[in-house]
Amino acid sequence: MQALVIDDSRAMRLVLNRMLVELGCEVEEAANGREALDRLGHGFAPEFMLVDWNMPEMSGIEFVEAVRQPPYSSTSRLVMVTTETEAAQVMRALEAGADEYVMKPFTKESISEKLALLGLEP
Ligand SMILES: [Mg+2]
Repeated sequence: MQALVIDDSRAMRLVLNRMLVELGCEVEEAANGREALDRLGHGFAPEFMLVDWNMPEMSGIEFVEAVRQPPYSSTSRLVMVTTETEAAQVMRALEAGADEYVMKPFTKESISEKLALLGLEP
């Protein structure tokens, strides 16, 4: 199962990449929403994406809003990775087309549970 990790923190991308590989995923990375859209525009269609909230160039919420619209119209599952302070904004992300969210600090198990909730079994 292909995954795209979208986060401006290299350390966070490493952590998420490792967890997802351990869960059996093939993982690609993007440093912000703009870079992720660029990948998707070139035909990359991961089964799910883990999306950070705060990123330069294009934030997580801006990415979610864009990726569900033409020309992308992505049907990939979108999981927001949030902190507690962003929790109040989660509803906005869900309304924009996000499917689920995980709150930091998370574990491999909590991510695995969210994927299972979405019917994604690596
Ligand atoms: Mg960030």
